[in-house]
Amino acid sequence: MANIKFFTGMDIPLELHKVRMVQKLNLQPIERRLEAISEAGNNTFLLKNKDIFLDMLTDSGVNGMSDRQTAAMLICDDSYAGSASFERLEAKVHELFGTDYLLPAHQGRACENILAISFVKEGDIIPMNFHFTTTKAHITRLGGRVAELLSDEGIQTSSDNPFKGNIDLDKLRRFIADTDPQHIPFLRVEAGTNLIGGQPLSLENMHDVCEICREHHIMTVLDASLLQDNLYFMKTREEQCKNLTIREITKRVADEFDIIYFSARKFGFARGGCIAIHDKKHYDQMRELVPMYEGFLTYGGMSVREMEAITVGLDETMDEDVISQGPLFIDFMTKELLKRHVPVVTPSGGLGCHLNAREFLPHIDDHEYPAGALAAAVYLAGGIRGMERGTLSEQREADGTEPIADVELLRLALPRRVFTMSQVLYAVDRITWLYENRNLVGGLRWVEEPGSLRFFFGRLEPTSNWQEKLVAKFRADFKDSL
Ligand SMILES: *Cc1c(COP(=O)(O)O)cnc(C)c1O
Repeated sequence: MANIKFFTGMDIPLELHKVRMVQKLNLQPIERRLEAISEAGNNTFLLKNKDIFLDMLTDSGVNGMSDRQTAAMLICDDSYAGSASFERLEAKVHELFGTDYLLPAHQGRACENILAISFVKEGDIIPMNFHFTTTKAHITRLGGRVAELLSDEGIQTSSDNPFKGNIDLDKLRRFIADTDPQHIPFLRVEAGTNLIGGQPLSLENMHDVCEICREHHIMTVLDASLLQDNLYFMKTREEQCKNLTIREITKRVADEFDIIYFSARKFGFARGGCIAIHDKKHYDQMRELVPMYEGFLTYGGMSVREMEAITVGLDETMDEDVISQGPLFIDFMTKELLKRHVPVVTPSGGLGCHLNAREFLPHIDDHEYPAGALAAAVYLAGGIRGMERGTLSEQREADGTEPIADVELLRLALPRRVFTMSQVLYAVDRITWLYENRNLVGGLRWVEEPGSLRFFFGRLEPTSNWQEKLVAKFRADFKDSL
């Protein structure tokens, strides 16, 4: 990556792109934000964009597109079958991963649906470093379960372990020894482990895990949705990757796994999904589901424009100057918050900056959802929309008991190539104010709780009038400022 030092000693990341198309943002007064969050049932998924200043909900489908991507979208081949746009995408995936077969799908979870229907049956257990919400939902819907084999350090929120997404090899060996092989359809590795704060795995760990699986004839699947950040962390944190190019690291990763799927809403800076497959047998096992659920084999529910954008986006992902931006800005934001004693997940990962809600709001009981309450409070404090990644994002057991999440995080995603330095500093300012006033923040309780994926559309209310008190304190401190 371009090595840039400042004469004045500033320690800031530098944008290595320029902005040539912009979108106007609204910063609503806090009184309107209070109305908006209660209209949204205290669920940031239900806020309207017009009420949001910095949308840090997700990095999914909202990354900044490049001039080259936008240009590619104008020259595309719109046909139901045999589209040249698909051929270009297929060729690019083959070039990067070395896989011979590609199945398209409309987004990442659609790939998971196809994988789950093809391979998961009642009573199966799928080992993985950590679950992702949609992955787990597809597996459990079919009567399967997930076994999380993350190393214990993975869920320690404060750490200096550079690869908290790694699988514990002893846990994996024990799992294999204790489980009927008939019930292990595949092992899944999630790059840039989403729910624990975008934490990477090392190339060494991926290799060791896949080696053990090969010995036991267990198929291996990589969820590469967040591989972009993981590649950057391998390059900068892992000795054996220091002298490899991003392309070489990508190829080494891809060589380990039987199947690689990704959400192109993240990997590829566009919108869509792909399943890349080495072995024709696996391709044949999944192929017929694509026309059934997604669309014909040469578009799979994607528009040809998006396929062109993904093809270029994947190419840009091989440029260290491009993929360093996310992690560098996230690291900057994390360190600025740490300087102000705000509890954040360390080391910083990809995807976004993650506030540790259990430490931020220690007075809130887990059953009153500290991370959910923090999401509502951060929106009030700054018009900033984050995503709860904690107990609210879990699913109740069949008997109604509520599993308490290992970590209670508020994710503040930094979609790639979108926010500027001053916007990041504004977020740090408002979060610091909130931290100084954290005692005013209270919990949440359900008003409407859906049975599955409740975090998407459930509605909650504050357990007291804490939000009115927070608004009054903001007015006292900020006078007539927005
Ligand atoms: C986003 C994501 C998915 C799902 O992808 P969508 O395109 O949103 O359906 C799957 N796995 C991981 C790790 C993700 O981050």
